[in-house]
Amino acid sequence: MASVTLKNVAKRFGHFTALEELNLSIGDGEFLVLLGPSGCGKTTTMRMVAGLEHPSGGEIRIGERLVNDMQPKDRDVAMVFQNYGLYPHMSVEQNIGYPLKVRGIGKVDRAAKVRIAAEKVELGPLLARKPRQLSGGQRQRVALARVIVRTPQVFLMDEPLSNLDAKLRVTMRAEIKHLQHELGVTTIYVTHDQIEAMTLADRVAVMNQGRIQQLGTPEEIYDRPANLFVAGFIGSPPMNLIDGNVSEGRFRAPGVSLSAPDFRGSGVRVLGIRPEDIEVVDPQGAEIAGSIYAVELTGESNLVTVMIGTNRVIARAPRSWRGKIGEKAGLRPESTRLHLFDRETGMRIE
Ligand code: ATP
Repeated sequence: MASVTLKNVAKRFGHFTALEELNLSIGDGEFLVLLGPSGCGKTTTMRMVAGLEHPSGGEIRIGERLVNDMQPKDRDVAMVFQNYGLYPHMSVEQNIGYPLKVRGIGKVDRAAKVRIAAEKVELGPLLARKPRQLSGGQRQRVALARVIVRTPQVFLMDEPLSNLDAKLRVTMRAEIKHLQHELGVTTIYVTHDQIEAMTLADRVAVMNQGRIQQLGTPEEIYDRPANLFVAGFIGSPPMNLIDGNVSEGRFRAPGVSLSAPDFRGSGVRVLGIRPEDIEVVDPQGAEIAGSIYAVELTGESNLVTVMIGTNRVIARAPRSWRGKIGEKAGLRPESTRLHLFDRETGMRIE
């Protein structure tokens, strides 16, 4: 096991800069998730650690070793791809054992190790099958078993759950978390799914347009998003973002006049409030008031959309809450859970 360090890593494809000056340190045994929208550079980052792409600048280290010019096979990393990359002509047993075979491990030893890995992901009875005789979830588990059959220094996982149905994704997510915890192998995991990122990661690196926007624990990223991009990207439904002005400790926007001790200075601001941090109250005397635009029962709660000026603000109300479209409603945000951003720079204001 080892740490992974990227120092000033850049990647250009011709004239296109996919990554500029990426700096990232992943601790020994840490589970780091690279999270961001399509095209932000997640896969490119991972492929450079694997040795499948060569960086245009900077240094990549695994442990103390500088690996920039090292062949993928010499890096001691194991990678799970989105499409699993199984060999169709090989049995499950041969697929799982392949990394051992290429390292010259003998048949008997190999069979024992394959059996242990297969048991871990509950594939024991399916060793003789070919990949085409398996379900999507079983194939995914073969790919996982092939990764855990030896103990590499680093696991690299590129959207390993994206081809599974919603239910299986949740099961396998817990499986991956459990295995990584048990094996303690440093892991870099790429996804555009924020729930996956939040549930799996020790730390999340949120990326956009080839840059890390924020690096932190899931709690830090959720509770104190560093900028408007992160604020809008994490959370479902996302944080409400309202354009307005701050002066004299008060945020004002059409339909909103909200005082908070933290609102210092003055200027054009964006107020952020998460749906679960808003209580739906009587409109009389409320600091935020408007009319109900939609009510959606999700099962465990009601999502209440209220038109405030020209903004639609979503609040999460208890499932017992009753209100109808067109009625007036007041909104009371939890004052300790407000987020304020500079509209010009997009950066969080303390
Ligand atoms: P996705 O979630 O869609 O896989 P990603 O965040 O993993 O996205 P990358 O695959 O890392 O994104 O791509 C980052 C950027 O680099 C994209 O704009 C992509 O078009 C570009 N890119 C990736 N590989 C190449 C290549 N071989 N040649 C040219 N451009 C490339």
